Amino acid sequence: QVAEWRKLRDEATVSKDGVHVELAANIGTPNDVAGVIDNGGEAVGLYRTEFLYMGRDELPSEDVQFNAYKTVLERMEGKPVVVRTLDIGGDKELPYLTLPKEMNPFLGFRAIRLCLDRQDIFRTQLRALLRASVFGELRVMFPMIATLGEFRQAKAVLLEEKDKLVSEGVAVSDNIQLGIMVEIPSTAVLADQFAKEVDFFSIGTNDLIQYTMAADRMNERVSYLYQPYNPSILRLVKMVIDAAHKEGKWAGMCGEMAGDATAIPLLLGLGLDEFSMSASSILPARSQIAKLSKAEMQELATKALDMQTAEEVVELVNAIQA
Ligand code: PEP
Ligand code: MG
Repeated sequence: QVAEWRKLRDEATVSKDGVHVELAANIGTPNDVAGVIDNGGEAVGLYRTEFLYMGRDELPSEDVQFNAYKTVLERMEGKPVVVRTLDIGGDKELPYLTLPKEMNPFLGFRAIRLCLDRQDIFRTQLRALLRASVFGELRVMFPMIATLGEFRQAKAVLLEEKDKLVSEGVAVSDNIQLGIMVEIPSTAVLADQFAKEVDFFSIGTNDLIQYTMAADRMNERVSYLYQPYNPSILRLVKMVIDAAHKEGKWAGMCGEMAGDATAIPLLLGLGLDEFSMSASSILPARSQIAKLSKAEMQELATKALDMQTAEEVVELVNAIQA
């Protein structure tokens, strides 16, 4: 099996009936890019920049960040790289950033909420990203967007920093796609409105499932409620993909679900354009998709959307993959 996967390394990802989808990788540091290339990743679908901020005793400077982003873009040799702006706060703490303790860290001051408040931190990261943009195919993504207002504010800050750099004579790419993580139910529900303003969506199922089911993704006692295959989740995913396509935009997924062998047939059927996963899952996923017909998976997904429970959905998928 491993030998069969290896052969797919330099192949495109194409379903049995000839439909191309993109298989991308999630990374945390520039060193992870080697694994992406080695596993035939077509893009970086999620660069979690938190690691740049962790394991040090002060904020990373603009230059430290610029070098990291430039390295990733260069090593990907023109393939798309989706960089997510800082998603810190809540449960992920930084020793040098003293934030008040919160009752519900996952519902609290984190990610874009923190960045829009601490604009010094946000602007430094955006400048580093904009400066790096000329070294490859940069896409910028904002995490934990709950309202259109947040997206508009974040975009305005980015455009301000871009204008400043340009007036300083610094080269900045003119085609940086700007997208959001869809990981809060309000944003999934309002995806049709967001789709008019963003360039792409990336569905963050790790958080989207926890917020939709109101089940902490870290809490063992409620893990039975953490249900990727619950029809409610599938319907939200469908809303997001359909909304993107209606506006001519693309929709990806960068939560764990994107690399899950039970979810892949459903996601292919729902029309997902980009699947971003850990690098080691890419070749197995490519091999799996090559054996699936998208037209047939559309029928499968339609059935799944009408089911009542996650268990029924799993049974349905298992029946075709047996
Ligand atoms: C997600 O929420 O699905 C996601 C990819 O982000 P993280 O796991 O970093 O919260
Ligand atoms: Mg998340």
